[in-house]
Amino acid sequence: KISVTGLRKSFGSNEVLKGLDVEIAEGEVVCVIGPSGSGKSTFLRCLNKLDELSGGTVIVDGFNVSDKTVNLNEVRQHIGMVFQHFNLFPHMTVLQNIMLAPVELKKQSPADARATALKLLDRVGLADKATARPAQLSGGQKQRVAIARSLAVNPDIMLFDEATSALDPEMVGEVLQVIRDLAAEGMTMVVVTHEMGFAREVADRVIFMADGLIVEEGTPAELFGNPQQARTQDFLSKVL
Ligand code: ATP
Ligand code: MG
Repeated sequence: KISVTGLRKSFGSNEVLKGLDVEIAEGEVVCVIGPSGSGKSTFLRCLNKLDELSGGTVIVDGFNVSDKTVNLNEVRQHIGMVFQHFNLFPHMTVLQNIMLAPVELKKQSPADARATALKLLDRVGLADKATARPAQLSGGQKQRVAIARSLAVNPDIMLFDEATSALDPEMVGEVLQVIRDLAAEGMTMVVVTHEMGFAREVADRVIFMADGLIVEEGTPAELFGNPQQARTQDFLSKVL
């Protein structure tokens, strides 16, 4: 569960988030859409404290992320994040990439971490790639490894920031399928996406952001089928 109240974030004099209030329930899949520069990535980064907040409160799984003394390692074991660029370690094999956090952060034994990693690789359809290096994989395969790596610490919440937008079109589907499977398993997820069809299909709720504010939110049917705000209508008319 995520509770966000009055979230503000500025970079210097640039106020990027202007007071966001959001509650995300356990098992809920929330897609965040909106124009470039509206603050979607910044919002996600504030949820797991990749960015310091400038104001407001963020509570994730009972952890006060906005508290300066919160244990970040602990927060990030509850909340995984996958980015547009996969950030895999190039000198490590796929298996080593996935085992790293469980062994280093969670102090799992290498044998346990390895067993978990192999299961996760199977789950994302890459059981045969355990000993490959990232450079030997396609973009879609790398992104599925990145997802497996995030899942390896057994998070309760997953954040996705345009996980498919750096991929060739024919690889988008395989990554969306992994996200879709996670949704079906009840993972709590916040997914920033340009894939409106995907948002419509998997989201329990869609949030439309513009200029650092939540302009409108609703079920996919409400938001895509009957947007209330002119700003939302304008955006959707350009992307649908
Ligand atoms: P896109 O759809 O293009 O990814 P976005 O909605 O994710 O856009 P953000 O990346 O959150 O937008 O950026 C929102 C604003 O914050 C932009 O004006 C950007 O220049 C600014 N910004 C983001 N990160 C930083 C940073 N580290 N330092 C300074 N300004 C930043
Ligand atoms: Mg972004």
